[in-house]
Amino acid sequence: NFRCRSAFKLLEIDSKHRILHPGSHVIDCGAAPGAWSQVAVEKVNSLGRNSSKPVGFVVGVDLLTISPLDGAVFLSNADITDSETQNKIISILPTGKADVILSDMAPNATGIRDLDHQRLADMCLSLLALSEKVLHPGGSFLCKLWDGSEIQLIRDQLRQRFQDVRTVKPKASRTDSAEIYLLAKLYRQIKS
Ligand code: SAM
Repeated sequence: NFRCRSAFKLLEIDSKHRILHPGSHVIDCGAAPGAWSQVAVEKVNSLGRNSSKPVGFVVGVDLLTISPLDGAVFLSNADITDSETQNKIISILPTGKADVILSDMAPNATGIRDLDHQRLADMCLSLLALSEKVLHPGGSFLCKLWDGSEIQLIRDQLRQRFQDVRTVKPKASRTDSAEIYLLAKLYRQIKS
């Protein structure tokens, strides 16, 4: 049982785009209540349930408290945009590096669409700074955004760092029409 229906969005994106693999080391940003982390734990084999596959690692962060989950390490009451939190994550990661950054983060919406969009876009940009510090070459980045004027800028920034950047809109998120995800793959691989 998943802690939240949002799990189905990640399952849908991953089944189509294959970002989580056995052995992957994953950072889940805005992880509470923990459904994406539940999906990640299974997909990366962080509990070692499949003994023939490599064992991955999942670290989740949220401003809120996240209930413990077997196979994941959680940093509760922590702001991912804070450099102290980012350094803590780096120290928790077994190699100090990650293969995948997931973000389903959202600020508390004010209802002012442009303002909410801008705030989420700023959070996304701070994750890009984190990706520079922690992502392995070839790594992936998946980030929620609300539609708006900054999307093009963020997409451009991603394109400078990743070979494959696309916008995805899982069917499971249909109800919230402003919500999209940017998926960037192949961090710092030479463009062909
Ligand atoms: N993916 C989660 C799941 O499947 O259980 C649901 C995530 S929920 C839509 C968004 C979360 O982002 C909230 O729990 C919120 O507290 C968190 N969040 C917002 N800003 C944050 C920040 N600066 N640092 C860490 N978490 C943040």
